[in-house]
Amino acid sequence: EAKKQGRDCFSFFTGDMQKAAQNRMRLLNELHGALDKQQLMVYYQPIVELATQKICKAEALLRWHHPALGMVSPGQFVPLAEETGMIVGMGDWVFRRAASQVGIWRQQFDPLFQVSVNKSPVQFSKTSYARAHWLQLLEQLGLPGDSIVAEITEGLLLDATHTVGEHLRVFREGGIQVALDDFGTGYSSLAYLKKFPIDYLKIDRSFVSHLTIDSSDMALCEAIIVMAHKLGIKVIAEGIETGEQYDLLVGAGCDYGQGYLFSRPVPADEFSELLRRQKSPATEQSRDEFSLL
Ligand code: C2E
Ligand code: MG
Ligand code: MG
Ligand code: MG
Repeated sequence: EAKKQGRDCFSFFTGDMQKAAQNRMRLLNELHGALDKQQLMVYYQPIVELATQKICKAEALLRWHHPALGMVSPGQFVPLAEETGMIVGMGDWVFRRAASQVGIWRQQFDPLFQVSVNKSPVQFSKTSYARAHWLQLLEQLGLPGDSIVAEITEGLLLDATHTVGEHLRVFREGGIQVALDDFGTGYSSLAYLKKFPIDYLKIDRSFVSHLTIDSSDMALCEAIIVMAHKLGIKVIAEGIETGEQYDLLVGAGCDYGQGYLFSRPVPADEFSELLRRQKSPATEQSRDEFSLL
């Protein structure tokens, strides 16, 4: 009896796993053609200077509009693209889109505007590639390096086989700034804050989301902000959803923030609209719409 049950459990489990593997294969196959079929898009999420609530940066976020499945989350397909190396081509594509977009926004709205682009560890793994690749692209577009912030994750800095330090120093020399994404969730070692040229720490959403109910998350945020500032690093809080979270972070001296409270990631033309409204708050109403206070 137990044996039969065990076998049933087993077959149920493999059935599930098989389905997952099939889904994965299907996504993988379709992902191969997604760029050519123009199913990929770049959305932009505002990054706001907390003290003034001014939008001064944007994070470029990849979107896959699948004909049957609708919007597939990058959480689902970026790992697949990383495993297969497809992320290298996609990353370049995102970068090119983001770079030409920041050129437009600098010209139209704010000469200091920046767009940050997520850079996968895979994009660092080829030594010849990418060393000055992004910088060359910026030069072709006639844009200074500081139009772009490269977002990297903690895991990358741990891996000594990568020539990461060199890459980051080339970025620094060319003016591209570096943000450490999802800070606090990886194998955090404070040593690399000293070792690598880092301009921004992005406090992960998991700390921000419990700020008002978990005093240890508040303590961690405060400590990260104080430490970063002593090292000359600016802090960006991710995933701000409520006015209370905003108030606590402003009180703690956090420099920048992004989150649904301000805006979800939106297509470039909608983002332009946000910048336009900010530049000339035509009516009281449009100003109120954005203002939190
Ligand atoms: P990430 O770089 O940490 O990006 C922030 C994620 O948090 C985005 O998810 C954003 O939509 C989400 N977010 C922002 N504010 C809020 C909020 O208030 N509440 C909640 N619940 N979520 C918020 P998204 O766009 O789904 O991207 C997920 C991850 O996929 C990114 O995390 C990044 O690691 C990766 N990714 C996205 N685009 C690219 C890309 O172009 N290249 C690479 N290599 N990775 C990318
Ligand atoms: Mg990011
Ligand atoms: Mg992040
Ligand atoms: Mg995150």
